[in-house]
Amino acid sequence: MSIINYNKKAYIKTYGCQMNVHDSEIMAGLLLNKGYEVTANMNEADVVLLNTCAIRGKAEDKVYSQLGVLKKLKEKRPGLILGVGGCMAQREGEKIFRRSPSVDLIFGTHQICNLPTFLNEVIRERRKVIAIKEGKISQEGVKAYRADRAEAYVAIMRGCNNHCTYCVVPSARGRQNSRPPEEVIKEIEDLVEEGYKEVTLLGQNVVAYGKDLGGIDFIDLLERVNEIEGIEKIKYISSHPKDMSDRLIETLPGLSKACEDLHLPVQSGSNRILKAMNRGYTREEYLKIIGKVRSLIPRISITTDIIVGFPGEGEKDFADTLSLMKEVRFASAYMFKYSPRPGTPAEKMSEQIPEEIRLKRLHEVIDLQREISEKIRNF
Ligand code: SF4
Repeated sequence: MSIINYNKKAYIKTYGCQMNVHDSEIMAGLLLNKGYEVTANMNEADVVLLNTCAIRGKAEDKVYSQLGVLKKLKEKRPGLILGVGGCMAQREGEKIFRRSPSVDLIFGTHQICNLPTFLNEVIRERRKVIAIKEGKISQEGVKAYRADRAEAYVAIMRGCNNHCTYCVVPSARGRQNSRPPEEVIKEIEDLVEEGYKEVTLLGQNVVAYGKDLGGIDFIDLLERVNEIEGIEKIKYISSHPKDMSDRLIETLPGLSKACEDLHLPVQSGSNRILKAMNRGYTREEYLKIIGKVRSLIPRISITTDIIVGFPGEGEKDFADTLSLMKEVRFASAYMFKYSPRPGTPAEKMSEQIPEEIRLKRLHEVIDLQREISEKIRNF
């Protein structure tokens, strides 16, 4: 028996990446479907959900300080329900109850579609609930609530089969799990019905889509989405250089709706560091991909991710990153200083770089990228 929660207000706070933004859209859709109202005002909410990120230590610190604020709000309003979801919930689990006893619900990245059930349990049985079991997420029939009416995120897969040594995603989101193509196509056709013309296909490594399904790959899916009438622009994020096949690169120019942007994280310009990161490609291989893409689509806008201060990164390695940025001239870049994450191989590596050097290098790449982006804009 499912309870309809008329007049109950839910507030969802999202931390982190586009996948988390989209997961929050799915949560909002599920709650609206159960009669909740989604509010942008935390102070009037009956249910507050934090959809968390675990990619850097800072992200987790922010969540705990927010939980401190919510504890005070709950002291004033004892009926308030506090839930923590997302990557930090998946990795930390029970620890969150211990550190923040005012939390009622912890649900992992594989459990978002069961959110209404968990809330019912918390409300009806007045007990704490934790659900972080891994498993296949079926979004079939789930309608996300998208505040953005111009561009829609569509998750095509979840999880990742790569093991970059600094990354928590595999432990937070599990192994690669591609959605059935029919489900993705149906969702996009429904979006066209709603008036959307632009979609962004989401995944940790979209160019590996279908490898776990067999019989289909990212190119097949992209070609099918490209054929959907009413769709005018297709973006996709994120791509891993080692899975950028020649076939994909040669197919892109023919996909009129999908060839203006490419986000291709390089992380470092040094082969020594790329190896230590277990990225699976070299500087030369990365530059070759860029060269091939640009020769076929000269106007393409290429963006990337850069990590500075990775363990063992010497002045020469850092100089390699700067020279690669000068050579590729990215339209823009997400730039981070290395953040040691518990349970990752990189955390245990020797030659950890002092914070002040990581910060100095971060400023240097930000300054360089600003210069490059300005020149590109003024060109
Ligand atoms: S490709 Fe590497 S960095 Fe990206 S999500 Fe997978 S493990 Fe993390």
